[in-house]
Amino acid sequence: MRKLFFLLLMAAVVTPALKAVNVENTAGQLAQLVTDTQITELTVTGTMDARDFLFINEHLTELTSLDLSQVTITAVDNGKTLFGTVTGYSANQIPRTAFFGKKLTTVALPETIESIGYAAFAGCYQLTSVTLPEALAEIDDYAFSGTALTSIEIPANVGYMGKGAFSRCESLESAVINGTTVGDYAFLGDFNLSNVQIGADVSYILKGAFNGCKALQTINIDPASTLIRIDDEAFINSGLESINIKSLPMGTIGEWAFAQTKLTSLELPGTLTNLGEGALAHNPLLTKVTMPDIRNSTIRRPKGAPAFRRTLEYIKDYTFAGDEQLNPGKMLIYGVKSIGSHAFYNVSQDIDTMYLPSSVHSLGDYAMAGMTGMQVLKTDAVEVPALGNEVWAGVDQPSIPLIAPEASVELYKAADQWMNFFFEESYLLGDVNRDGVVNISDVTALISYSVAGGLDIDLRAADINSDGSVNISDVTALISMVMGSTSELSVKAIRDQIAGKCVATSDVLSLESVSLQPGQTRTIDVALNNDEHDYTAMQCELVLPQGVTLTAVDGIERCSDHSFFSRIHEQESNVYTLIGASMKMDQMTIGEGKVLRLTITADEDFDGNNAELMLANVRLVTPDHEIYLADDAAAMLNNASGIEQVNVDKEIAAVRYINVAGQESDTPFDGMNIVVTTYVDGTTTTSKVLK
Ligand code: CA
Ligand code: CA
Repeated sequence: MRKLFFLLLMAAVVTPALKAVNVENTAGQLAQLVTDTQITELTVTGTMDARDFLFINEHLTELTSLDLSQVTITAVDNGKTLFGTVTGYSANQIPRTAFFGKKLTTVALPETIESIGYAAFAGCYQLTSVTLPEALAEIDDYAFSGTALTSIEIPANVGYMGKGAFSRCESLESAVINGTTVGDYAFLGDFNLSNVQIGADVSYILKGAFNGCKALQTINIDPASTLIRIDDEAFINSGLESINIKSLPMGTIGEWAFAQTKLTSLELPGTLTNLGEGALAHNPLLTKVTMPDIRNSTIRRPKGAPAFRRTLEYIKDYTFAGDEQLNPGKMLIYGVKSIGSHAFYNVSQDIDTMYLPSSVHSLGDYAMAGMTGMQVLKTDAVEVPALGNEVWAGVDQPSIPLIAPEASVELYKAADQWMNFFFEESYLLGDVNRDGVVNISDVTALISYSVAGGLDIDLRAADINSDGSVNISDVTALISMVMGSTSELSVKAIRDQIAGKCVATSDVLSLESVSLQPGQTRTIDVALNNDEHDYTAMQCELVLPQGVTLTAVDGIERCSDHSFFSRIHEQESNVYTLIGASMKMDQMTIGEGKVLRLTITADEDFDGNNAELMLANVRLVTPDHEIYLADDAAAMLNNASGIEQVNVDKEIAAVRYINVAGQESDTPFDGMNIVVTTYVDGTTTTSKVLK
């Protein structure tokens, strides 16, 4: 008999039968009502308190499924310690450690519970899902830490979430958070968590909340969110690639909050006043950060209040340390006062110009150490900022020009560490290629640099609009500058200036002679015949007869990709400077064909007799930025119409018109004419003209 009992016991241990029990309980009675402690499924109705939870915890070792959905949890304080050293237990609360380490796979919670105690389900390594009731207001420390939950939705009423509430949940993939707070270390080490939704009521993401969430590439924040703080280390060592916080009313981002992530860019909210130490450090993929600028904030300023500018006053220690690809050249804006130690340590990306606004008054130890890609340092600070130790350690200061406010240059030259930079006495703004003059070849050099880089140009001279970087916007500024420099000179004075400096070419512009009547607007096409060089830009003076104005100038055919600019001269009302250049370095390769179209308008008093339009001082620029001077080109604007190319270097001796009957005259016949132009050098050209 004893042997048989033993065998039965063995069988029970090896294959525990599925045993489901329903109990109508009165608080404190569960131990009396459940006699079989090997049950696997239990449904409790009625009431229960901490004593019943203790019974389940200590005796129902095989329990996998627990349904408490119809039970009411009542308070108990019998003076005895039940869980740990605690004696008093509230109503509607799952007691602390109630199910710690149990085999539970499913649990249904009472709709009425308001609180889940410390580590209540921690270590339930088979618990894959739980629905948190709407009434829930508190989730205590580690409540679900180390469970097998795959998703969790936190109801809006949850105003308190303790430490590590869902930490080390290695199967957790999705979290929807509707409460007000994401607690300290809430999802620490949840390395499969990939989908996080932050609801409109979430105000705080606390310390280490998503630390180590390697699968978390982005986080979905409700646009109406009132998130005001992201605490220390909140996303450290996570997989975060992007996060949109720019429009949130956020004041603080804590220390190392976004360190060691995969972020590529980040726009900081305009309201941010505190960015903690190391907040964006060691982000190897980070290329761009937009600093807070209150003017970019969606926060409305009171009606009538003055516009104000606010940004971070303090760039704290290590903020961008190790962000090797970050370009901080233009990042700092007015308002920044100090730059902490190691703030830009090893930010080694190539930077045209690193800019320090005039508000900067100090840089800490090693603040810019290892910034080996810095090419120019520009400071607007009139008072030389104070420096910590070896601010530019590892930086080849003697090769980097320092641009300081003119009045302070001598102070910088005399200041420790600052003095090690290169001080160039002067440079000519616009002389991009450093040849001592500002002209069209500087334009092409600047375009070439902007498009492809690689070209050795004077970056200080090239930053025409003084915004700290050199780009295509400087090109248009430079074109305007070049045109401005010629607009006060006569055509002849310009000729004197360029003659002898530019090599002549036989490549030539030509244009059609046309008929222009008083009050008429019409176009004239200009062609380029080039067999010596390829060109990428041109400049010339357009001289119009009295009574004619330039309406438009456009690149056509061979130059359809070129941008043309014109500016009327200040001294001579009938002279325009024209500049055409390809912003993509497109070339007019050797060949012939139309390049630009002039649109001109004659006033009512225009006299077409002997009226001539001329393109003078024609400078053609090669892709290597060499300028060649071509012959002037001209066209007659008489009453004849047709194709008549005139080269002013060839002076015309006579023009004869021959009609279809073979009659000759020095004035056109009605109908079709053959025009025979004889030049002083004896050559002739012929063309057809319809009168
Ligand atoms: Ca130049
Ligand atoms: Ca610029």
